[in-house]
Amino acid sequence: MFDSLSDRLGGVFDRLRGRGALTEADVRQAMREVRVALLEADVALPVARDFVEKATEKAIGQNVLRSVTPGQQVVKIVNDALVEMLGGDDAEGATLQLDVAPPAIVMMVGLQGSGKTTTTAKIARRLSKGGGMTGEKPRRVLMASLDVNRPAAQEQLATLGTQVEVATLPIVAGQQPVDIARRAVQAAKLQGFDVLMLDTAGRLHVDSALMDEMRAVADVARPQEILLVVDALTGQDAVNVATNFSEQVPLTGVVLTRMDGDARGGAALSMRAVTGKPIKFAGVGEKLDALEAFQPSRVAGRILGMGDVVSLVEKAAEAIQQEDAERMASRLAQGKFDMNDLRAQLGQMRRMGGLGALAGMIPGMKKAQAAMASGAVDEKILLRMDAMITSMTPKERAKPELINAKRKIRIAKGSGTTVQDVNKLMKMHLEMSTAMKKIKKMGGLKGMMAMLG
Ligand code: GDP
Ligand code: MG
Repeated sequence: MFDSLSDRLGGVFDRLRGRGALTEADVRQAMREVRVALLEADVALPVARDFVEKATEKAIGQNVLRSVTPGQQVVKIVNDALVEMLGGDDAEGATLQLDVAPPAIVMMVGLQGSGKTTTTAKIARRLSKGGGMTGEKPRRVLMASLDVNRPAAQEQLATLGTQVEVATLPIVAGQQPVDIARRAVQAAKLQGFDVLMLDTAGRLHVDSALMDEMRAVADVARPQEILLVVDALTGQDAVNVATNFSEQVPLTGVVLTRMDGDARGGAALSMRAVTGKPIKFAGVGEKLDALEAFQPSRVAGRILGMGDVVSLVEKAAEAIQQEDAERMASRLAQGKFDMNDLRAQLGQMRRMGGLGALAGMIPGMKKAQAAMASGAVDEKILLRMDAMITSMTPKERAKPELINAKRKIRIAKGSGTTVQDVNKLMKMHLEMSTAMKKIKKMGGLKGMMAMLG
């Protein structure tokens, strides 16, 4: 149905195959395609714009791995940024803040038809069963519907309660939402429930009377969790919904429903960007067990319309790091260290935000690590060093002693740096290669390790 992002980027990047680093112009061109993909996935415009800006900064200057295309590389960078923005791979997922003096109160809010009542029953079912993905202990749950607007809304929750074997607050005709909330809290306390779930009335759109009601209920019940329930099919309106609800009540999380449908899940990104709150659950069907912990990496893949490319690039990156490490070990054994080795180390520093295990033992690199930690060397400097090495001829890289004053001028010009910068790089290389020779004298890496005990 959709062109995959990598197909689109393929065209943009064909001419780039085999080149070293992603330039700003290349990245910006690719990011235009990324932006279209985000909008097609229903990410709200201002959110897409913001996100693309951040991802662009990350992508510029990154090296293209040998076995993937630049397009694939950009997709991976975008994907990683997206996963991070959606909460990261180690997102807490389905955790609710329930460790308070009982009852812990969970309030559900959202537009009419978004799936509040269904999700209330789904969460209640999960909590009362315990175990599951969070390994939680079973909890005694009470549900109460505060929806006096829609006919039979309270009966709907009672029916669901019977289905999932969770207690519901007895219905008292004519009672207003705030009074029902008060009665529910009282009942939960008296009857020793661990958790009280409050299902509120929906609104067709953001309506001030209902907003007032929601605020009043929140004031009375003082919930630990206020979850905004949003239909994954919400498109550009997502920003409005998120803004309005989060201005009225202190949201603690979001539930995205109808993730079983065609939605590409762009609403997730909009919700996250606007509310800043974690997306905790995803509804994946009408059945009452169709609730999952929200999974950022899966949803990122869905938003971008790809998953294979990401794992391909991950594999390629792993393979290359392995190659680097092996090459480094054999160079160490020979006491050799040329500009290619330096570049490999710089690449590792960039990837790891510090030093590789091997390089950590080399005095020259230790200094660089300290400089990096203190903020004196940042990513940009590493990129500049890489650019200088790129501007050297293969011969110069293998035999840095060839680099005389004239060659330094050429290298500086080619990399947009100064001769002073080139000198600094040369000095760093010299320190490191001297250190390598010392290591060789001590009997190589093994000898050094032995000495260190
Ligand atoms: P409320 O007005 O916010 O309380 O919404 P309801 O809980 O009454 O849900 C409205 C409709 O959406 C019902 O028919 C539900 O079965 C359906 N629904 C809720 N969550 C999901 C979901 O995750 N997937 C699908 N396919 N349908 C859902
Ligand atoms: Mg409802």
